[in-house]
Amino acid sequence: MYQLNENYQKLPGSYLFSTIAKKVAAFTEANPDKKVIRLGIGDVTQPLAPAIIEALHKAVDEMASAETFRGYAPDLGYDFLRNAIAEHDYKAKGCDISADEIFVSDGAKSDSANIQEIFGADCRIAVTDPVYPVYVDSNVMAGRCGDYNYDTQMWSRVIYMPCTKENGFAPAFPSETPDMIYLCFPNNPTGTTITKEQLQAWVDYANKNGSVILYDAAYEAYISEDNVAHSIYECEGAKTCAIELRSFSKNAGFTGVRLGFTVVPEELKCGDVSLHAMWARRHGTKFNGAPYIVQRAGEAVYSETGKAQLKEQVAYYMKNANTIKNGLQAAGYEVFGGVNAPYIWLKTPDGMTSWDFFDYLLEKANVVGTPGSGFGPSGEGYFRLTAFGSYENTVAALERIQAL
Ligand SMILES: *Cc1c(COP(=O)(O)O)cnc(C)c1O
Repeated sequence: MYQLNENYQKLPGSYLFSTIAKKVAAFTEANPDKKVIRLGIGDVTQPLAPAIIEALHKAVDEMASAETFRGYAPDLGYDFLRNAIAEHDYKAKGCDISADEIFVSDGAKSDSANIQEIFGADCRIAVTDPVYPVYVDSNVMAGRCGDYNYDTQMWSRVIYMPCTKENGFAPAFPSETPDMIYLCFPNNPTGTTITKEQLQAWVDYANKNGSVILYDAAYEAYISEDNVAHSIYECEGAKTCAIELRSFSKNAGFTGVRLGFTVVPEELKCGDVSLHAMWARRHGTKFNGAPYIVQRAGEAVYSETGKAQLKEQVAYYMKNANTIKNGLQAAGYEVFGGVNAPYIWLKTPDGMTSWDFFDYLLEKANVVGTPGSGFGPSGEGYFRLTAFGSYENTVAALERIQAL
C-alpha cells in the first residue's frame, strides 16, 4: 500500500478566501438590491498595456511560420529577456547582477514555494507575522515546520517575527537564529515597507549568522520613497546571503499571463557549494521554460513605450491607494501602508476583531476587504483593503465608509 506525504495532512484548511466568498454570497442573496464593492482582491484589474499587447501579437505571428517558430525555450530563459532584466532592473539601479544570475520562471508564487527545496530538511525558517501564506505552507509540505497549534495559530518550528504598529511593521531580529529568512518588502498584506538602512541591517545579520534571505520584491514598482531599496542587491554584501524573487504580475498586470524571475548570485555559497548551480540544476530538471510569447511580452515591459505605459498603470492604482488612505484617515481610522504598495492596512476601531470588522463593513457599507487575522496571529485587529479596483468603485466605497 502506498503512503502519502503526511506533511500535507498537517496543513490546516485555508478558510480565509472561501469564508469571505461564502459571507459575501449570503449577504448578496439576502440583499439583492445592494451593490457590493470588493476591495479585498489581490488581483489587478487594468488591461495589459498596448506595448505588451503588441509584443504578444507579434510573437504569436512568429509562431505561425516555420522560419520564426520557437519550440522549447531555454530552461533559464531567453537571453533577450535576461539581458533586459539585468540592464533595467539591476545595472540601471547600480546593482551588479548579470544576466547569468537571472532565472526566468512562470511567476513568483511558484518560485517562492519551490526555492525551499534546495535547503536542508532541518533548516529553521523565519517569517514576518502577518505573512504571504505561500512561504510557510510550502515549508510545511516539505516537513520543515513541526506541528501546528490551533490555539496560537503557529507552527512549532517556525520563527515568527511580529510586524505591528508598535514596531512600525519592521521585524526585529528574532531571539532564535533562523537558517532561512523570508522577507517581502514592500509588504503584502500590510502595504508597509522598511528603509534601505533597515534592509542593510538584515543583510549584515544574515551574513554574520550564516542565514540566507529569500527576498520577495513583487511590489518593487510601487515604491515611491527614495530611502527604500528596489532590490536587496542595493545593500552591500547581499550577493553572499540573498536570493531575490520578482514578478511581472503587479507591475505589468501579468497575473493571468504568468512571468517572473529569481536572482541567485554566483557568489552565494554554502561552504563551497554554489546555490546558483543547485537552482540551475533544479530549474533544468523540473521546469521547461516560460513561453516564448510571454517572454517577448516581458521584454516589452522594458521598452521605452512599455515603461511609460506601466508607470501610468501603477500611478492609477496608487491614486486608488491614496483615495483609500486619505478617506479612511478623514473618517478617523488609523491607517498604514498605501505609500509604497497598493495595500492599505487599517487598525480596526473600538477593539473589534478583524472578522467583526469584516461583517460590519459588509453589512453597513457593502464593502468587502480582507481580515488581517487571515494572514497570521499578529494580523488580528487589522484589516486589508486593496487599490486594485477601479477608481470609481474605490471612490464610492470610501464615500460609504465615511458616511458610517
Ligand atoms: C502577488 C504576489 C506575488 C506574485 O505572484 P505571481 O505568481 O508572480 O503572480 C508574489 N509574492 C507576493 C507577496 C505577492 O503578493
